[in-house]
Amino acid sequence: MSLRVHFLNGGHCRHLLASIDGRTFRTVQFHAVLLAIEHPSLGWIVCDTGYGGRFLAATSAFPSRLYRWATPVSDNLPATSALARIGLHPADIRHLIITHFHADHIGGLRDFPQARVYFHEHALAPLLALKPFRQTRAAFLPSLLPDDLASRSHILPDSAFLPDARLPFRSCDLLGDSLLKAVFLPGHAPGQIGLEFTDTAARERPTLYCADAFWRSEQLLNNINLPRLTRSLQWDGPSYLSTINHLRTLARADTHRLLACHDDITQRHVAPS
Ligand SMILES: [Zn+2]
Repeated sequence: MSLRVHFLNGGHCRHLLASIDGRTFRTVQFHAVLLAIEHPSLGWIVCDTGYGGRFLAATSAFPSRLYRWATPVSDNLPATSALARIGLHPADIRHLIITHFHADHIGGLRDFPQARVYFHEHALAPLLALKPFRQTRAAFLPSLLPDDLASRSHILPDSAFLPDARLPFRSCDLLGDSLLKAVFLPGHAPGQIGLEFTDTAARERPTLYCADAFWRSEQLLNNINLPRLTRSLQWDGPSYLSTINHLRTLARADTHRLLACHDDITQRHVAPS
């Protein structure tokens, strides 16, 4: 069985390509994509929430203002507006998956007060433990978290992620029906997960949605490694590189459609607004 998956834009910022390849001094749009997944029995599931409408307020004061300077946001479209384009209302969303707690993935988290929020056991606690300046450096803005998050959290224990015969990563059957797997993609942010699913639009090939495990497909296809500065901003540099190398192997094997949140290739699947 497969799922129907909609890719939607939840705002964007501008980034210098040199931050990825170390040599191209041209800025490009980095869209913050969110996924709306139509599940046959559970209804709508959303993965990540883009910049949301609160990013600018959350970065109005120091030290979080530094984040806005580093990645100028030119469109902070609320996730609710993105979902409205396909006729969805926040109350329709009962399941919300957060790949990792960077601000461009949790900006709209407060807009879904009825949703259960799924995330990896190690995704949030290490960020909450940081001092404010370190939180900003780690792209985490705690004011974006809903006040009642603890009572609505569905934490995925690391022990639930098991070796997967089809992937070079550990995975967890998220809903117990094998339709949607959370895949552990460590390195970029603490406890980062991606999603594996078969999308009706992608025919027989499963999709591995990698969140920010890579930003641009050139990193995989042309073996481009991040320059030192950008590499230093990854949560765990050696794990980031190991994850990238496994993804390069997977890309060569060509068993999966590999998509990442900010990659231009993902934009081919975003419904026109
Ligand atoms: Zn990120």
